[in-house]
Amino acid sequence: MLRILLGLLVAYLVARAIARLVVGIAHGVSAPTAQKQPPPIGLVRDPVCGTFVDPSRALTAGTGGQVRFFCSEGCRQAWVHQ
Ligand SMILES: [Zn+2]
Repeated sequence: MLRILLGLLVAYLVARAIARLVVGIAHGVSAPTAQKQPPPIGLVRDPVCGTFVDPSRALTAGTGGQVRFFCSEGCRQAWVHQ
């Protein structure tokens, strides 16, 4: 009788551990994708407001390798005068 109870207890603990593991994996997989969105391909980030903009249509500031792209004149001015 004791062995049966012990077996049931072990089975219960194992099942619970597996359930926790599955939930942990599900959280580990879903959480980063929900929080972190990959930048759209071909777009650059406005350093002021964080908006992704199309470089061919965005406002720019800076020279050479330090060119920055902005969604609006307001953001460009904010960056230039920081
Ligand atoms: Zn902006």
